[in-house]
Amino acid sequence: MSRKIILLIIASIIGLIALSYIQARLIKNTYSLRKEAFTDNASNTVSKIGSYGSPIDSIFDAISDTFVKDLDRYNLNKISSEQLLNRLQTISDSLNPRFIKEYEKEIDFKDLGYNLKYHRQLKNLVILDSLKTDTIFKRKKREKGLKLIGYDFESNSDLHLGTSTWETNRTFEEINEGKTEKISYHIVFETSNYINIDDWEKIILNEMRSLLIFSFCIFLFVIGLFYYSIKNLITQKKIADIKTDFVNNITHELKTPLSTLALATKILKKEEHQSPMIVSTIGTIERQNIRLQKLIDQVLNNSLGYKELSLEKQPVQSVDFISEILNDFEVSHKEEVSLGKSISTKNLELSIDKFYTTTAIVNILENAVKYGANKIEVATKNDRDYWKIKIKDNGIGISKKNQKLVFNKFYRAENKDVHNVKGLGLGLYYSHQIIKAHNGSIKVESEKGKGTTFTIALPLK
Ligand code: ATP
Ligand code: MG
Repeated sequence: MSRKIILLIIASIIGLIALSYIQARLIKNTYSLRKEAFTDNASNTVSKIGSYGSPIDSIFDAISDTFVKDLDRYNLNKISSEQLLNRLQTISDSLNPRFIKEYEKEIDFKDLGYNLKYHRQLKNLVILDSLKTDTIFKRKKREKGLKLIGYDFESNSDLHLGTSTWETNRTFEEINEGKTEKISYHIVFETSNYINIDDWEKIILNEMRSLLIFSFCIFLFVIGLFYYSIKNLITQKKIADIKTDFVNNITHELKTPLSTLALATKILKKEEHQSPMIVSTIGTIERQNIRLQKLIDQVLNNSLGYKELSLEKQPVQSVDFISEILNDFEVSHKEEVSLGKSISTKNLELSIDKFYTTTAIVNILENAVKYGANKIEVATKNDRDYWKIKIKDNGIGISKKNQKLVFNKFYRAENKDVHNVKGLGLGLYYSHQIIKAHNGSIKVESEKGKGTTFTIALPLK
């Protein structure tokens, strides 16, 4: 496989990985947002439970009333902190079944579509008075707090609804040795609220199902497209290689009859007392034969790119050069076309590779005949630093779309108008490479059905 294709595959794979990464990030973000919305909704539902005056509210009141009285006794050192907490646990446990019953009633009524369980734990309990701050309970990190009310389940930090703090000033009267004493202290009662939803991840993923399926399909589609393109590219490359092989083989096969022809012309040339017409015809045959041989060598050596063309530049007189090409062309195509010439008579000295430049011009002239012209007009012009040749034909023309492609290697426009026109699609490609190697330019203007004009510009210096 060529380096270009390997680089392309690597670049595409990197692109695919980057795309997948972005996609995964987007899905993760969507998941987080959905989870947030889901827990918000659940926490809203939970916070509405136990509104003022409801049976649940009265359960909370019962717990706090008993608890505060115990706290007074603790404050008077009548019970220890363990006893206080044990009593809190006992009263909570005894009221919990009632709480769960009422809670289930409210939850059923809300018809959420999932099972929402809730519990509240004691996180911190501190009492303060003018003399001291007494921390009775403090939940340690990663340790379970004291469960106050609700269901038993592992508290999952993912579904922690936050903490709520109940702070109040408490004043009570104590009769001590016949005297009534007023005692005040401040209570800080901090609780953590947790919810539990069976398979909550599944519920969120289920909500995201269409997005996940769509993303997966898009991903598969991109992979498929990528695979198809690369496969296509490799096939194209193989076809191009086969074409090149084919051209090389066929040109090789052509060499033998051409050498025989060259030998035959040589023998004919040796013959004395020939009419000038025959001498000139043999000259044409010989020149064309040499050209053909060189052309074949050129294909065989595969020196197709203009950078690899090694030019042998020589001084050439412009008028003589073009006249010779046009005369040879006329001789070989007398019956098919009429050739109009308007050659500027001023001979300019060009520095060009005569063989290659002839090939470039002849390719264009031959195309005109191949593609339907019966009239060709060739004009040359000395334009400042350039010598310009304009070749205009009245053939089938080339559509705008195809004009951009005609200089491509192996390109042949589909010609429904001309049947059985054979070619390799190399002629204009060569011409273009040759003119580029001379630092010149070649352009095409055409109108479908009317004809085509090629203009070659070769620099004078
Ligand atoms: P080859 O020259 O290698 O034998 P070819 O003539 O098909 O084959 P090119 O000379 O490169 O290849 O031309 C490419 C295509 O451009 C042709 O197939 C033809 O469709 C179109 N074309 C070229 N010259 C003309 C023209 N003068 N008029 C109309 N179409 C043209
Ligand atoms: Mg051609």
